[in-house]
Amino acid sequence: TSPPEAKKKHATEHVPQVVHSIESAVAAVKAPAKPYVLVGSGTASFSAAQAIKEQEPNANVIIIGNESVPPYMRPPLSKELWFSEDANASQTLKFKDWQGNERNALYQDISQYEIITDVADLNKESTKIKLLLQKTVNKLDVEAHTVELDDGSVIEYNKVLLATGGSPKHLPNQSDVKNVTTFRTVDDLRKLDSIAKKNAHIVVVGGGFLGSELAVALAHRAKTEGLKITQVFPEEGNMGNVFPTYLTKWTTGRVIDEGVDVKPKHSIKSIANAEGDKVKVLFDNDEALEADHIVVAVGIEPRVELARAAGLEIDEQRAGVVVNAELESRRDVFAAGDMISFHDIQLGRRRIEHHDHAVLSGRHAGENMAGKNKPYKHQSMFWSDLGPKIGYEAVGLVDSQLSTVSVWAKASEADTPAAAVSQPENLRGVDVQDIKPSSETAAPSNKQPGNPAEGTVFSDEKFGKGLVFYTKNKKVVGVLLFNVFGKVQEARDVISNGTSVDQIEKIVSKFDIHGS
Ligand code: FAD
Ligand code: NAD
Ligand code: NAD
Repeated sequence: TSPPEAKKKHATEHVPQVVHSIESAVAAVKAPAKPYVLVGSGTASFSAAQAIKEQEPNANVIIIGNESVPPYMRPPLSKELWFSEDANASQTLKFKDWQGNERNALYQDISQYEIITDVADLNKESTKIKLLLQKTVNKLDVEAHTVELDDGSVIEYNKVLLATGGSPKHLPNQSDVKNVTTFRTVDDLRKLDSIAKKNAHIVVVGGGFLGSELAVALAHRAKTEGLKITQVFPEEGNMGNVFPTYLTKWTTGRVIDEGVDVKPKHSIKSIANAEGDKVKVLFDNDEALEADHIVVAVGIEPRVELARAAGLEIDEQRAGVVVNAELESRRDVFAAGDMISFHDIQLGRRRIEHHDHAVLSGRHAGENMAGKNKPYKHQSMFWSDLGPKIGYEAVGLVDSQLSTVSVWAKASEADTPAAAVSQPENLRGVDVQDIKPSSETAAPSNKQPGNPAEGTVFSDEKFGKGLVFYTKNKKVVGVLLFNVFGKVQEARDVISNGTSVDQIEKIVSKFDIHGS
């Protein structure tokens, strides 16, 4: 066959025509040409769906997700939604950002989707993104180009995106204990919201992003509901796997100031049911704690089973699906978000569990599914806020195992997350649309810190605001902006320029932390 003929054959092989049934019930139906099937209804899928629609407005784009609500952003679930004055916020998912602007965790209203309840309707002509909720994709057949749902129906795809995110890890005997929950979804939020009432004692297990944000959020609720909030984890302090030790200890002090009873260096031996619907936590040091409820926030396990069973390559070290520069796992199978192991051209192979990465990689995968074929080169950022007063943003590798060089300055009222969200250049990816990296550059400050060496801490006054440069082989591989906002692009530049430890002193002025 000549090349054009070969191409034609390939094209017809992959034209998705049939939605056919296994075993019994579901009738065979003709689908419109070329459906893009996006597995998972999280941030990466929604972002990909939008990108495909931008390229091909009439494309048949189907998001399949097993949650009960349409795609939403998770960040406010452990932050702003707990600070809302509206007692019904966990139902409406409306919240005010720290600056007071009205937002909604849902990316768009349900009426803006073509809601599909029967796979037969996948045929329907519609310019909207199609959404199939409360369905789990149980099988991916990469050769037949099909996915199989939990109701037995089979959907043929042209291109498929895997964006299945991650599931919360559990404590060893968690399933034997009654009042224990993990926290990832809107359903989890609604459940915890109903528990966090009337003098309940809640123990948050875990000192990472989720545990620390939730503990502070619950402590805020405690002010009106008389709750008692205890946070337990094995590290030296909050965010101990990310921050250098001194900053971990300082941050723990602030979490305590917010009303959380923090118990660092506490490893859990076991948890158990106790009398009168209570739960008991037993620690390795033989201390014990009784409470009404335990929230477990001990990390996630990327959901790669579908991919593994389909024979796709898994990076066992990082527990992610291996994708190439175009975010493709194999032909016509793309993947994005928390579950991918991808090659970062500056920092090597990585897996990232943050919102902005889900937005950017989802969008990029969507564009490539629609034919763009561009390599993924974005350096994503992430942020976390411990209430409205403490916040940080970061780029690259931030890990407490790395050496660091830090620069600190006195903070003012303007150096808080609440002040930051009012800055238009701030990149917090709350909206999937806000994805273009900012290219603004800072006015250099003429105030310079001293001559840094690895492990150095400069402190004008405690840790009000500052920069932590994480280094590997004498090069900066990560930057943490602590109560410093709107400087994400500068941080990216530091990494992409291959800045060495010796050059840090020169580039600090770009961040203007002593100025304005
Ligand atoms: P997910 O959001 O996990 O979406 C995957 C979806 O796929 C889920 O709905 C899942 O149910 C569904 N699914 C999985 N398997 C199947 C299947 N087989 N069939 C059908 N559906 C399936 N990051 C930040 O950078 N900043 C923050 O402030 C921040 N805050 C957070 C707060 C909370 C409470 C949580 C839980 C996370 C937070 N994150 C934050 C992390 C961020 O939300 C994640 O990195 C992001 O959600 C990853 O998106 P994703 O699309 O890859 O996966
Ligand atoms: P893991 O599944 O091996 O273990 C989870 C954690 O649970 C470990 O810290 C383990 O010590 C702890 N644990 C389990 N049972 C416990 C108990 N009964 N009491 C006390 N602690 C208990 O996962 P992991 O090693 O934490 O990490 C998984 C991945 O996430 C790795 O790739 C890791 O590098 C990454 N990670 C990175 C950071 C970071 O900040 N950079 C932080 C955490 C994890
Ligand atoms: P994490 O990996 O950030 O933290 C895991 C924490 O688990 C560790 O810091 C450790 O304290 C703790 N831990 C592990 N085993 C333990 C044990 N047996 N006893 C006590 N503590 C134990 O994960 P997370 O905080 O659970 O967050 C869940 C997911 O949500 C992650 O993917 C995270 O990146 C994401 N998230 C991100 C943000 C953000 O970026 N701002 C906010 C919330 C959640």
